[in-house]
Amino acid sequence: MIEGQCLCGTVSYRYHGEIEKSILCYCQHCQKAQGGFAGWNSPLQKSLFEIVRGVKVLKEYFHSPNKARVFCQECGSPIFSYRVDLPDIIRLRLGTVTVGQIPLPTEEAYKQYKPEFIQIK
Ligand SMILES: [Zn+2]
Ligand SMILES: [Zn+2]
Repeated sequence: MIEGQCLCGTVSYRYHGEIEKSILCYCQHCQKAQGGFAGWNSPLQKSLFEIVRGVKVLKEYFHSPNKARVFCQECGSPIFSYRVDLPDIIRLRLGTVTVGQIPLPTEEAYKQYKPEFIQIK
């Protein structure tokens, strides 16, 4: 079981499963959306993901037509994204997890935008 919430706590969620892998994405969309050097994500089954509180403050932003980035309108925390053509999968933003185990990142995407100061074994 995984639990998490946004910065202000208005949005909280549960994942009725385990996180099996984590991915760092250095693409420039993730960098801007997170305000950091990467997005830290995991692809999860939408059917096991439950918004416990705050569904009415979630907002979807489409920077590209196929991809929604879902965030808390109160505090701006990114919660997850999904692709319109893959509606059964969400990509959870792992910085919002408060309970449960997160595996070390095993994949790095868009490494051409990875800052040189980031070193992962
Ligand atoms: Zn919030
Ligand atoms: Zn990305």
